[in-house]
Amino acid sequence: MNSEKFQIPFLDLKSINQAHREEILSSLIRVLDSGWYILGEEVSRFEQNYAKHCQANYCIGVASGLDALSLTLRAMEIGPGDEVIVPSNTYIATWLAVTHVGATLVPVEPDEATFNIDPNRIEDAITPKTRAIIPVHLYGQPAELEDIRELAHRRGLRILEDAAQAHGAYYKGQPIGAHGDAVAWSFYPGKNLGALGDGGAITTNDSALAIRLRELRNYGSSVKYHNNQIGYNSRLDEMQAAVLNAKLQFLYTENRHRTSIAQHYHDNLHGLGLKLPHAPAHTTPAWHLYVIRHPKRAAIAESLSKTGVGTMIHYPIPPHLQSAYAFLGLSAGTFSIAERMHNDVLSLPIGPTQTIDQTNIVIENLKNSLLEVSE
Ligand SMILES: *Cc1c(COP(=O)(O)O)cnc(C)c1O
Repeated sequence: MNSEKFQIPFLDLKSINQAHREEILSSLIRVLDSGWYILGEEVSRFEQNYAKHCQANYCIGVASGLDALSLTLRAMEIGPGDEVIVPSNTYIATWLAVTHVGATLVPVEPDEATFNIDPNRIEDAITPKTRAIIPVHLYGQPAELEDIRELAHRRGLRILEDAAQAHGAYYKGQPIGAHGDAVAWSFYPGKNLGALGDGGAITTNDSALAIRLRELRNYGSSVKYHNNQIGYNSRLDEMQAAVLNAKLQFLYTENRHRTSIAQHYHDNLHGLGLKLPHAPAHTTPAWHLYVIRHPKRAAIAESLSKTGVGTMIHYPIPPHLQSAYAFLGLSAGTFSIAERMHNDVLSLPIGPTQTIDQTNIVIENLKNSLLEVSE
């Protein structure tokens, strides 16, 4: 993304981090001067802070969101011969985690109104081999957790939430972080809580799972040179934990700002032939992305780009049509709802430093581009 080229970049990461420059710098200096760079005080402090923020008993920092997902599946002892239910429309990392542990993907189509996995379709996908469901809180909008929990409980399945886009979101008044058996987080720089590099975490109320995950991320060991499991090197870095400790306190304010932008888009963009995102009243989305739908999204994106407004597509190709998953033999048409979405979604600029003036420019230019494409 070349942010110089756009008067309104899709996401202005530089300005987002500049806003916390002093806090970040003093945290990084603290790590430098401590002489301790792996699994030290910053990671412990962040794990405590983030668990509290999520109203979860445990938080385990790991190297990335993808590792948070795949290590948790390992800790749940899910592997070859097991089936895992995933959304047909998600970022590919959700699928990769299942593939990495050798389990079988069972994709389920979303509800078009919320973009999230449709609880009514999950039951039909369950077989005697099903072990877990991975709901994704896509674009920061919480999935229908109550229905999913009721179903998982009744059918004896585990729930691993993919909350990589949902920091600070709420479902029925409770923060995302402990509705399921475990919740996977990413702190990739562009997420609502972003580090200055890769990072991830798992939050959970399950103490046995927490102990296994602490070992798995660190060579399978909790006492140095004593290895209980076939582990990995997947630790949240002290430097990144320090950055996250500096930034966590601003997450609520930043999400409130995102919410006001989403509301402003909503108030000014309805009735124009665009499909706008819908948030059920019992959810408070994190508004990681503001995703509209229009059959001529490519022409709209191009026209906006000419006026200096950056947009993105999340995502242009669904996982089952990626070359990496050609071996599954899932041809075009297999997941028609997901495919339809991937063909008409467009993400508008949104972020904690985007002003109302900038948002108004996006709205005006978008209205003009809609006139252009209807000609
Ligand atoms: C970003 C993301 C991930 C992966 O996180 P990384 O930290 O980049 O590995 C997983 N799932 C979803 C839905 C994401 O958006």
